[in-house]
Amino acid sequence: MKKLLFLILSILLITGCSGEKERQVTSIIQKENKVAIAIHYPKFQYQKLDQKIKKEVDSVYKTFQQIPSKEKELNIDYEYTILNDRYINVRLIIYIHDKKEYHQIKTFHYDIKKKKLLTLEDIINKEELTKLAPKMKTILIKQYSNHLILDKLDETIIPDFTHYPEFYFDDNDFTFYFDSNQFTKGYQDVVSATISLDLMNLIIPLERGTFQEEDVLLPTRKHAPIDQKKPMIALTFDDGPSKYTDSILELLKKYNARATFFVIGNKVELYKETIQKMIRYGNEIGNHSYNHKWLTKVSDDELVSQINTTQNIIQETTGVTPKLFRPTYGSINQHLREKIPLDIIMWTVDTSDWKTTNSKKIATYALKTIKNNDIILMHDTHKQTYEALKIMLPKLKEKGYQFVTVSELNEILATH
Ligand code: ZN
Repeated sequence: MKKLLFLILSILLITGCSGEKERQVTSIIQKENKVAIAIHYPKFQYQKLDQKIKKEVDSVYKTFQQIPSKEKELNIDYEYTILNDRYINVRLIIYIHDKKEYHQIKTFHYDIKKKKLLTLEDIINKEELTKLAPKMKTILIKQYSNHLILDKLDETIIPDFTHYPEFYFDDNDFTFYFDSNQFTKGYQDVVSATISLDLMNLIIPLERGTFQEEDVLLPTRKHAPIDQKKPMIALTFDDGPSKYTDSILELLKKYNARATFFVIGNKVELYKETIQKMIRYGNEIGNHSYNHKWLTKVSDDELVSQINTTQNIIQETTGVTPKLFRPTYGSINQHLREKIPLDIIMWTVDTSDWKTTNSKKIATYALKTIKNNDIILMHDTHKQTYEALKIMLPKLKEKGYQFVTVSELNEILATH
């Protein structure tokens, strides 16, 4: 059997407008003999929505695999709109071709504010649907006159929400989708009816404006109060988040530890859930520039942009505004100190965790060097850092160390 050429690519779709967010796209491209598959579907970082879309894609994929033809093609693509920063409308455009052509639209609706998947019933009421049905009928008759089976159309177009599972809207129009042979004959494409909101006499209760206040994340974990008689250290991690950060967060949680993460602004969107978890687990987030530029070597405009863009993106993602800054390459001068309106945080112990992949060596050096009130420099971008922490955390805990954030440590030191 020939090997499958199977590619799963995760790429970033970068949208132009500054108010829009970067979203992930999963692409599956597969070609073997005369079987061709091209799937693209979005990931919005909203779990319920993402899961529902993926479930639909998986189900279509499975159905396609079961088609016995040797020559067949599957295509899934998508479109979406986001209204008022709140309502996400997604439509999957599904195309299967074997002996016949088969077109389908599947739609998904999500309210970001209420963290809820929406159905038609959440958007219009029964009375509105009742008024809508005859208007829809008129449109469908006009559009598909040559293909319609009238009594089947009458059966479909009744004011029953279960008859309208697929719809899409923006602030002008509402579109309903029907299966190609639901009430037509010999028509292969998707059957749809688009109605302007004015014609519907419908004002979708779309709220205007943003709702940032409600999105502020708070630590959900309660920590034991800091015992000032016991030793404490502040673990700090630079350059992340990365694919290792989640494991590090879980490990810290296991030892009741919190740390300070000096993050790179341009990684925040990609690791949105990780960043939010940092806060929920009681960690602190600091600014480490937008793309790790050497800040003593850039113009003032560039400097301000590196700091502010990162502040904004962290604020938008977590609702928390960082107070700390760690200079890239540890490079700092008087000019930077004057320009950057954040507390500049260096370190007292450098684990050099990026220099070796030997996690034991990192842990041994750290364990023999660390003393009370130290700020430890590490990087959550390496596997060996996670492995070293697995050795360090239980040993340090045994010695009575408490793991606090930089701000907590500074506050305690300031009152002494
Ligand atoms: Zn760095």
